[in-house]
Amino acid sequence: MRILVTGGAGFIGSHLCERLLNEGHDVLCLDNFFTGSKDNIIHLMDNHRFELIRHDITQPMLLEVDQIYNLACPASPVHYQYNPVKTTKTSVVGTINMLGLAKRVRARILQASTSEVYGDPKVSPQKEDYWGNVNCIGIRSCYDEGKRVAETLMMDYYRQNKVDIRIVRIFNTYGPRMALNDGRVVSNFIVQALKGQPITIYGNGSQTRSFCYVSDLVEGMVRMMNQDKFIGPVNLGNPDEYTILEFAKKIKKFIGATPPIPPFKKGGAGGVVFKPLPQDDPMQRRPDITLARKKLKWEPRVSLEKGLAETVGYFRRRLEVRG
Ligand code: NAD
Ligand code: UDP
Repeated sequence: MRILVTGGAGFIGSHLCERLLNEGHDVLCLDNFFTGSKDNIIHLMDNHRFELIRHDITQPMLLEVDQIYNLACPASPVHYQYNPVKTTKTSVVGTINMLGLAKRVRARILQASTSEVYGDPKVSPQKEDYWGNVNCIGIRSCYDEGKRVAETLMMDYYRQNKVDIRIVRIFNTYGPRMALNDGRVVSNFIVQALKGQPITIYGNGSQTRSFCYVSDLVEGMVRMMNQDKFIGPVNLGNPDEYTILEFAKKIKKFIGATPPIPPFKKGGAGGVVFKPLPQDDPMQRRPDITLARKKLKWEPRVSLEKGLAETVGYFRRRLEVRG
């Protein structure tokens, strides 16, 4: 098949492009390089079945494709709050453009939605039938509400125009190729620990998250795209839940004993520092993956230890090159 991956030069998108190429497909990677990078896909450039298109999905695009994975959208709070109007535009106008393309060429389209559609959830774990608790005027709304409208658009193009859609709700995912300056918790903690800097905990660290390794996530996305049983939305994430404080301790234990990478100096005795909790930061997040287990026969397989070993190795190499 010829498959379009928007946001293909980003963290998850680059792993997806790699996986689809390995399956023998032609892959069109479309990206505006806001948070993505050529470094993430440089190893794919020599493959004659791989094409890179610099384009912004808020502008229409004419292509002939069989499937579309719509991942284009900054995912880290630091990045999506940098230009919040653009973030909403990317999820709303961008998704309309991709749905228009899917409609015209009769391609199947999968939307990368998010656990953020549940906002600061009042129930845990979160199931797909929970409608969420989202503040529509807060600093996370550009992302949360953008993604909620993207789901609405997907469902309405399905009901109104019979577009062949799939929706996955992705929970916190980590792995190699997260950007050094990504600002999300996994990359922040690992980079800080590797530099021998104190780990920054926002709030008192009692808020929870569940971390899914990127290869597990990509497997779930590909399964969802290539089945005919249901359109979703379906949760994809790892149900193992940690408080942020527990997670910081895990990272410190994992990296702790190793000396900091030159030229970084050991600071703060490798301890933790507490910073203010950002506005609307969700207190708990844990996926109920019963639906994915049942319909996709999917569940995460990579343990946190194994996933962290890969991710820490990646960041260590990146920092050594920089250092
Ligand atoms: P990322 O920031 O690494 O990747 C996003 C990619 O989209 C980047 O390459 C960026 O340059 C590109 N992009 C942004 N706006 C664009 C635009 N207007 N036009 C074209 N390209 C654009 O983030 P990621 O973690 O790889 O996330 C990928 C997708 O998965 C996003 O849609 C995100 O909302 C979703 N998601 C990710 C997570 C996670 O934990 N990583 C969780 C939930 C949902
Ligand atoms: N967080 C933190 N220190 C950091 C970065 C994030 O304590 O350096 C916290 C953040 O406040 C949130 C959790 O870690 O409670 C996950 O944040 P992230 O930005 O990774 O993603 P989110 O799940 O909030 O979208």
